Amino acid sequence: MQTTTRVAVIGGGVVGASVLYHLTRLGWSDVMLLERSELTSGSTWHAAGGFHTLNGDTNMAALQGYTIRLYKELEEITGMSCGLHHVGGVTLADNQDRFDMMLAERAKHRFMGLDTEIVGPEEIRKIAPITNLDGIIGGLYDPLDGHLDPSGTTHAYARAARMGGAMIETHCMVRETNQRPDGTWNVVTDKGTVHAEHVVNAGGLWAREVGAMAGVYFPLHPMEHQYIVTDAIPEIYERDAEHPHVMDPAGESYLRQEGRGLCIGFYEQTCAPWAVDGTPWSFGHELLPDNFDKISDSIEFAYKRFPVLERAGIKSVIHGPFTFAPDGNPLVGPVPGMRNYWSACGVMAGFSQGGGVGLTLAQWMIEGEPERDVTAMDVARFGPWISPGYTRPKVIENYQKRFSVAYPNEELPAARPNRTTPMYDIFTGMGAVWGKQYGLEVANYFAQDGEPAYETPSFRRSDAFAATAREVKAVRQAVGINEVQNFGKYRVSGPGARAWLDGIMAGRVPDEGRLSLTPMLSPRGKLLGDFTISCLGAELFHLTASYGAQACHMRWFGQNASDDALVENISDQLTGFQIAGPKAREVLAACTRTDVSDVRFLDVRRLTIGMTDCIVQRVSYTGDLGYEIYCDPMSQRALWQTLWAAGEPRGMVPFGMRAMMSLRLDRFFGSWMSEFSPDYTAAETGLDRFIRFGKNADFIGRAAAEAERAAGPARRLVSFEVDAEDADVHGYEPVWLEGEVVGFCTSGGYSHHAGKSIAIGFLPADRADEAPEVQIEILGKMRSARVITEPLFDPDGSRMRG
Ligand SMILES: Cc1cc2nc3c(=O)[nH]c(=O)nc-3n(C[C@H](O)[C@H](O)[C@H](O)COP(=O)(O)OP(=O)(O)OC[C@H]3O[C@@H](n4cnc5c(N)ncnc54)[C@H](O)[C@@H]3O)c2cc1C
Repeated sequence: MQTTTRVAVIGGGVVGASVLYHLTRLGWSDVMLLERSELTSGSTWHAAGGFHTLNGDTNMAALQGYTIRLYKELEEITGMSCGLHHVGGVTLADNQDRFDMMLAERAKHRFMGLDTEIVGPEEIRKIAPITNLDGIIGGLYDPLDGHLDPSGTTHAYARAARMGGAMIETHCMVRETNQRPDGTWNVVTDKGTVHAEHVVNAGGLWAREVGAMAGVYFPLHPMEHQYIVTDAIPEIYERDAEHPHVMDPAGESYLRQEGRGLCIGFYEQTCAPWAVDGTPWSFGHELLPDNFDKISDSIEFAYKRFPVLERAGIKSVIHGPFTFAPDGNPLVGPVPGMRNYWSACGVMAGFSQGGGVGLTLAQWMIEGEPERDVTAMDVARFGPWISPGYTRPKVIENYQKRFSVAYPNEELPAARPNRTTPMYDIFTGMGAVWGKQYGLEVANYFAQDGEPAYETPSFRRSDAFAATAREVKAVRQAVGINEVQNFGKYRVSGPGARAWLDGIMAGRVPDEGRLSLTPMLSPRGKLLGDFTISCLGAELFHLTASYGAQACHMRWFGQNASDDALVENISDQLTGFQIAGPKAREVLAACTRTDVSDVRFLDVRRLTIGMTDCIVQRVSYTGDLGYEIYCDPMSQRALWQTLWAAGEPRGMVPFGMRAMMSLRLDRFFGSWMSEFSPDYTAAETGLDRFIRFGKNADFIGRAAAEAERAAGPARRLVSFEVDAEDADVHGYEPVWLEGEVVGFCTSGGYSHHAGKSIAIGFLPADRADEAPEVQIEILGKMRSARVITEPLFDPDGSRMRG
């Protein structure tokens, strides 16, 4: 066996094989796959082999499209068959909410270049005549849906990889992964030790065990899953063409033709996690015992939806395990806190996603960054707070909700509350309705007497509308307060702190006592973060950014570390409040003996507020006069009492994220992962105004940002006022101009201050200045929209800066 390699991929399922192939495709031939048994010896061999493009995340959907298109190419390269059946598929809608979701999906597909179609019951009858259409109001047809031969496809990836120079070692169990001092790895196998520069965990069902060999916990869990293959059915084998796929979310089933009969699988509510305490190494090419009790309700439902099933005999039952991450998306990329250790696991739909996972991982490893934003499957989207006790209920919830409608305002209940601040009980007592970010409870709004203490999930304006309006009004007319627990916070210190910041951030590093706003760029000029930097001393800075991006940011800081600057993640070591509104200064002044009248916009000060030593930043995401007040969590309740005692008589109200997201629209402020994400550049999003091209530092992304400045961006972010009715823009709605889709929305909502529906989105740069009248497609309806440039509140910034 070869004993050195650039990359050791552990696991020869469809995912490991795809990773190996993509590494060779991007030019690395000295790569090796280690498989403890034969290829496909985990979940892969017993998969139903179905594939589809639908995914709630647009970038995941694009990667699924890539995976499906790849199979033809793989067949051509290798001369092997993947057993492709491109039969198309229809997903049924039995209620308006589900249909609304399809309308929103269909709208997204317009700018993604996917040819899905909304179909009515009559068309469904023609597409899938065995379907009982009682109660069906429509469906979404995708011509790309189909299925393949799981084993043939995995072997085709493997052959293509071998053709590119890769080695595959089967019957080669990996026992240990030990890191050498230089960051490379000794991969200890039954056949000897392989010295590898990089290790990829593609261990599938055993990814937890493989991770543990390197001391890493991977948040994934196997679930049992069953599908049934029937005997021959005349209504199927007498057809001229193969029957397409039918997904019936109401029955939690997927169905397709298999030979002369049908194959139907279920995502049952009575589901069961498998191998809770670890996957046995003895498990291999075997199945779990049939369990009809678990799926009896689902089968009964399926008999009604597809009556031919009731008359069909059962030919075989496949019952096997496969893994899920807590949100159902794969875990891909460089593992935070590790050197040269990569994840390619948690892939629950290997035949829809495996190609995209392989491509992403290979691009990341070889080119330094993936070509598109892959946050939805980045292994760093979960932080160090994640545990098996959290993962298991979330995975069960995810399995149960596999076919559920996913609403933009939905807060999933499993594993909550998990992480809370000292304010949790106080705010709960004041009516807080909680959401969750990165495991942390965050108030969405405060319900008052008679208002629902639960926000009903909806694509339209929700029942939080009145509460949100009330909170917005209080902020604009008096003063509002909410927590700043959900900001990512970092301390940068040491003699090289300023120089390090100058190199990693594209913007200005502020002088002592001041703040600055800055984008952080990748070498290709993509946005990796939008930060506030505050300078607390010659060698001491604080950074704030998105809470959910902590592990991504720390990974990037670690990859670009300096010996002279210490970077610490203090996100949960600092909490506090922001107060915003015309009376915010008066409240602050009433809480401290220091004169705060000269605290200017973008100043940072250390102040004692009541009993509590705080860092106070004059900055505002509400667009109003505002202060962020940070303290240590042990002092947060004391700080609250001080601020509330001063604020309540002045009309202070607590406000939540719903109000915050409405307030920021008044000044068209973008938000992370909506307007600002690794899909976009600074110039496209307007963040280039914060880049300091004149600074004497070769910051990361400078060359790309300069090139874009010279050429001008191809698209630009603009804001629209939309003639909406009861549904506002959420994100990814297409923007139509003169009968063509020319852009898409990044986010939107209702400005309660202005009483207007607002959207933010991209237009081609050459059309953006014309401020054209456009149409935005919301839930299948064309809504007129106009580009607006003047903020809806405080257009000259006098209140925010004054
Ligand atoms: C009943 C059922 C139906 C399914 N239907 C579909 C479907 O229709 N469409 C779809 O897309 N997906 C489907 N899936 C899911 C699909 O099977 C998985 O997404 C996919 O197989 C995951 O592949 P993988 O390579 O990540 O993992 P696995 O297939 O589990 O492969 C992991 C490999 O790693 C090897 N390995 C582990 N540890 C070591 C070690 N220490 N040393 C060496 N080798 C090691 C294992 O032997 C194994 O071969 C289904 C799953 C089930 C259970």
